[in-house]
Amino acid sequence: MNRNRQTKIVATLGPATSSHDTIRALFEAGTDVFRFNMSHGDRDQWRQWWTALRELETSSARPVGMIADLQGPKLRIGEFRDASVALERGQEFRIDLDPKPGDEARVGSPHAEIFAAVSEGDTILLDDGKVMLRVVACGKDHVTTAVEAGEGLSDHKGLNLPGVRLPIAALTPKDREDLAFARELGVEWIALSFVQRPEDITEARSLAGDGVNIIAKLEKPAAIDSLEAIVDLADGIMVARGDLGVELRPEEVPGVQKRVIRMCREAGKPVIVATQMLDSMVFAPSPSRAEVTDVATAVYDGADALMLSGETSVGAFPVDAVSMMGRIMETVEQDPFYDPQAGAPEATGADAISAAARQVAGTLGASAIVTYSVSGKTTLRASRVRPEVPILGLTPNIAAARRLALAWGVHSVHTDDASSFSGMVERASILATREGFARSGESIVIMAGVPFGTPGATNTLHVAQLD
Ligand code: PGA
Ligand code: MN
Repeated sequence: MNRNRQTKIVATLGPATSSHDTIRALFEAGTDVFRFNMSHGDRDQWRQWWTALRELETSSARPVGMIADLQGPKLRIGEFRDASVALERGQEFRIDLDPKPGDEARVGSPHAEIFAAVSEGDTILLDDGKVMLRVVACGKDHVTTAVEAGEGLSDHKGLNLPGVRLPIAALTPKDREDLAFARELGVEWIALSFVQRPEDITEARSLAGDGVNIIAKLEKPAAIDSLEAIVDLADGIMVARGDLGVELRPEEVPGVQKRVIRMCREAGKPVIVATQMLDSMVFAPSPSRAEVTDVATAVYDGADALMLSGETSVGAFPVDAVSMMGRIMETVEQDPFYDPQAGAPEATGADAISAAARQVAGTLGASAIVTYSVSGKTTLRASRVRPEVPILGLTPNIAAARRLALAWGVHSVHTDDASSFSGMVERASILATREGFARSGESIVIMAGVPFGTPGATNTLHVAQLD
């Protein structure tokens, strides 16, 4: 199955998409990578999804990527006596450590860090910013506020402290358990929520052990302040516009999106743009014109992948949302204004050969670039130069093949490593034909490291003509 597009689609699984048939339909409609949002569901559910996806991988003979997205230290309020309350502008409202159910005047929250971190005059946002509170007095175990906006609140709504850096660990006890479970299943990508500092990634990496690939979700302004170091340490980045747009002014998010994409493109790290991309498709069979433009803009910006959340997890039209997103991507990719820029080569064999492969493929009108890479790193460097032809990423490592499902322009194939030069050329030619990228008489450009099986030794560029 050859998708015929370069930008990838990540779809979040949820109640709307838990049957094997719907998961298959999402895949056939164009989903490249599936996300488990570990804020919801339980181990039984995640294991069922994992089983369905592995079965799909076998039956479709295509590597299927997965992201286990840890909940992270998301702050929440507790419960109300009657599940919800009405609020009035100007009234006093208190948040405290008391676990007793709340009412019109107060509610509990178990996060003691909040009380230490806020000061008079700060803003507290609840329910994705629908309720805005201004701090008027702080205590050790409570905070008194005035309601500035919002009509009401209900149980367990999220709480954001815009601009406040919290002395909070990157992974909660639940995250540690969920991470261990995701590792046990063998999920290739782990997403870290509410990253605040570069050390959060180092800490997660040491907990997760070798071979884990970490996506840092940018949803706190503090992470944007340390962007360079975070991009450097993470294996992938998500512009998590949902929470980011609550913590930053919403009008600041588009600029941040562009800056993050540019930085990730330069670093050669896959970057995902997420949240509300086709939001009206949660309820409607077609998106708003503004949403179509938003999806298109992220593609023009050169993102590796775009993500669907509520559209596929709880929406009424999950499969249509995926095919709509795919159609927008394909259309943009055909547009003459679509011109994703190649990152400048660093002084490595992989980068020099990648830049050359792009150029040679263009000059010769080759049909595809074929990479041989055990870890997938060389293939990511080839993706970084954004060639005009597809990249057929061959790897003997199934985990790398699945990971590469997220990378722009890469069609990964799990296959044995080459052992001889002629074997390499022959295999590349056969697979390029079998996967539908090249026909007899056309040429392909092959990148590899010789001798075979030495990681990081990309030193060979070969042009092959298919007989
Ligand atoms: P979430 O993250 O869907 O896990 O909240 C994405 C976002 O905040 O945009
Ligand atoms: Mn979020």
